[in-house]
Parts: sequence; C-alpha cells; structure tokens
Amino acid sequence: MALIEVKDLKKTYRLGSVEVPAVRGVTFGVECGEFIAIMGPSGSGKTTLMNIIGCLDRPTSGKYILDGLDASRLSDGERAAVRNRKIGFVFQSFNLLPRMSALKNVILPMMYSGERRHRRKAVEALESVGLQGRMHHTPMQLSGGEQQRVAIARALVNDPQIIFGDEPTGNLDTATGKEIMAIFQHLNDQGKTVVIVTHEPDIAQHTKRILRFRDGLLESDEPVVDRVLATETLKYGNTEGKGNR
Ligand code: ADP
Ligand code: MG
Repeated sequence: MALIEVKDLKKTYRLGSVEVPAVRGVTFGVECGEFIAIMGPSGSGKTTLMNIIGCLDRPTSGKYILDGLDASRLSDGERAAVRNRKIGFVFQSFNLLPRMSALKNVILPMMYSGERRHRRKAVEALESVGLQGRMHHTPMQLSGGEQQRVAIARALVNDPQIIFGDEPTGNLDTATGKEIMAIFQHLNDQGKTVVIVTHEPDIAQHTKRILRFRDGLLESDEPVVDRVLATETLKYGNTEGKGNR
C-alpha cells in the first residue's frame, strides 16, 4: 500500500470573485522510504501541493490518502493531529523563533504532542544533525546552515514518518545546501520518506525521483539517474569555521 496516494487532486483559490486554479488535477503515489524532489517553475503549484500532502491545507476536490487514511475528508483539528503524528516540515526561511535557543526551538513541537522526555529528545535530535555545540545559541548566533539544521531537528523530534521541505536549501549557498542534502539522505537511509520542493537541478539530483510540475499539472515523473551522494561531505560535530554567518 502506498504511503501517499493522490488522485485527481485540485486546488482553486478564490480571491473575491477571481478563481485561481493552482493545482488542476494531479495523480501520483509515494511509497514508504522514497526520496522525491518536486520541481517546476514559480507559480506551478508546488507549494500548494506540498501544503495539501503535508496536511497544512485541504484540496478543493480529488482524493488524498495518507497511510490508508482519507485526509481529504478530515476536519481542521483532525488534520492537525495527523500532521503532528506523522509529518515533519522544513521551510526555506527556517521559521525559527528568534528569541529562543536552538534547544527551546526543538522542544516546542513536543509541547503539543504530550511528549514527556522533551529535553532529552530535543538534545538527541540536535546531536543527530551535528549541533551538539550549538544548543544554547539563538538563531541570530547561528549560520544559515546551522539554523536549517535546527529546523530539521525540530521536524524530527516527534519521530515523523515523512519529512517535507519547501525549498529547504533555497536560502543557502551551494556548499551548505549540500550539507543539508546530506542530512536528508542520511534520514532517508534510515527509512524516512522525504519529499522536497526545489528548483535547483543539483539539489534534485540528490533525491531518487523527480516530479515536474507545470501550470498546476504533473508534467513528468522520473527516477533520478546518476544520483549524487552528499554524505561524504558531511562533517558531523564540526561546525567550526563556517564563515557564512
Ligand atoms: P509554486 O510554489 O510552484 O511557486 P504556488 O503553489 O505557491 O506555486 O502557487 C500556485 C498558484 O496559486 C500561483 O498562481 C499563486 O499565485 C496562487 N496562489 C498560491 N497561494 C495562494 C493563495 N493563498 N491565495 C490565492 N492564490 C494563491
Ligand atoms: Mg513555492
């Protein structure tokens, strides 16, 4: 059974009397353990689609089955509960709370899940992305790549099945983007399903399958040939000397 099943999915935004068809009938499936890049020009509906399959938004019509559950029929509250349990999100602009330490940023999502051993799990998540020496820094005291690693740790603490990233390397230089892709590859090797939006071919080349969108439609769906492995460039625990503050 597919982890994600999308059938003739459509999303139309209504702005007053104007209708904006953002996703116009998309069908695909994602198996457990896949690593997917969603590509396509600006305005092609990538974020809209990711928000729907990430349970942040609901489709106008069509079906979305997540792990056997019909997510297109859930109430807002039910959708939020599914999101908390199954999904971790990483964004282009990191979306960290500026006044809080890395550790507090990572503890935060567990507050809503009723999880007890908050602190230890947050510490483990930060260690898993190589930030053991940066727990008490606030976002301003961290480089862009470090901030995104905090965001990944935050996405991981509830042990989600799926990680979604909407242009997670979009605000980072090439080398730092590769470090982030190394972390995603590592998570995928451990069994996480990973779906990212990117418009950089180099970044997409680190995944295993590319879905291309155009004008709200799925234009192509192809496996990655000559996949790039970034893992060897990752230096866990060595965040010294990164000059991109
Ligand atoms: P992408 O992420 O591929 O750049 P989006 O999914 O953000 O594309 O947008 C797809 C289309 O839907 C665009 O035409 C955009 O202007 C429109 N759109 C996106 N979000 C909204 C919204 N909240 N309200 C109205 N129109 C929107
Ligand atoms: Mg977008």
